[in-house]
Amino acid sequence: MLQLYMPLHFLGFVYREIKNALADMEKMFRLLDVNKEIADAPGAQPLKLEHAAVRFENVRFSYDPAREILHDVSFDIPSGHTVAVVGASGAGKSTLSRLLFRFYDVNAGVISIDGQDIRSVTQTSLRAAIGIVPQDTVLFNDTIYYNIAYGRPEATRDEVIAAAQSAHIHTFIESLPQGYDSMVGERGLKLSGGEKQRVAIARAILKNPAILIFDEATSALDSKSEKAIQDELRNIAQNRTTLVIAHRLSTVIDAHQILVMDKGRIVERGTHRNLLEIQGIYAQMWALQLQEEH
Ligand code: ADP
Ligand code: MG
Repeated sequence: MLQLYMPLHFLGFVYREIKNALADMEKMFRLLDVNKEIADAPGAQPLKLEHAAVRFENVRFSYDPAREILHDVSFDIPSGHTVAVVGASGAGKSTLSRLLFRFYDVNAGVISIDGQDIRSVTQTSLRAAIGIVPQDTVLFNDTIYYNIAYGRPEATRDEVIAAAQSAHIHTFIESLPQGYDSMVGERGLKLSGGEKQRVAIARAILKNPAILIFDEATSALDSKSEKAIQDELRNIAQNRTTLVIAHRLSTVIDAHQILVMDKGRIVERGTHRNLLEIQGIYAQMWALQLQEEH
C-alpha cells in the first residue's frame, strides 16, 4: 500500500510541477501574445538601429478576415519624438502597438524602423529595441525582483532597484516581509492593477530601449500616483522614440504630434494647439474631460 502510495504521491508532485510550468509558459505566451504564424523571414538580419525612426505607411490590418480593424493608417514618429494616440475604446489604438512589436503582420502597407521593414529583421532584434508598458501587465509566478529584471536579465541589483525607484514601487517592495524576494503572480502576492503597472514601468525603464510604447500605462493608478509617474515617464521618453496611447488627455499635451483615431482611421492629427484650433473631435474630447475634472 505504502509502496503504491509513494510513487503516486510523487507523480502527483511531478504532475503539479509540470502543470505549473506549463501554466507559466502559457502565461508567457499570452503575455507576449505570441502568434505562431509570425516567423523570421529566411535570411532575416538583425535590425540596424540608427535613429529609431518609426514609420507606418498605408497599413491595413484585420484579426479576422471578415472585419478590417485598421484602414490605411500612415504616420511617422521621427527619431526621439513622442507621438500620442487618442480615441474611443475599440478605435484600434492598442492594435498599432501590437503591430509595431510584430505580434501580428500587417495585411497591406509597411511598418518600418530606420527604413527597414520590420518583417525583414529578426524578431529578437526587433523586440530588443522596443519596450512596452501594456494595458494589462501579466506577471510571472516568480519573485518581484525577477519580474523587474526580466526587462534586462543581465542588469545589476542596483540597476533593478534604481528602476523600481523611478517607477515609484521601491518603497512598497521594501515594505514587504521578503522584499524583492517576494513571490508574485497567481501563486504569490496578488498585486493591484496599479502595482502591476509600476512593475511594468520599472521593467521598461530597466530595459532602456530605443523605442518606447506606453499603452494606457497609468490607467490603473489613482490620479495622484499617476501624476508622479507621468513625470517619470516623460523623463524616460525624452529624446526617445515614443508611442503613447493615452487615456487621459492631460498626458498628451506635450506630444510632438497627436493622432486622433476613430474606427480604425486617423481622423485628425496635429499638436494639442492645432487640434484645439480646428475644433473637431479632439477639441470635443478635451472639453468633455475638463468638465469631468471640475
Ligand atoms: P483600442 O486600444 O483603441 O481600444 P484595440 O486596438 O484594442 O482598440 O481594438 C480594436 C478592435 O479590434 C476592437 O474592435 C477589438 O474588439 C478588436 N480586437 C482587438 N484584439 C482582437 C483580437 N485578438 N481578435 C479579434 N479582434 C480583436
Ligand atoms: Mg487599447
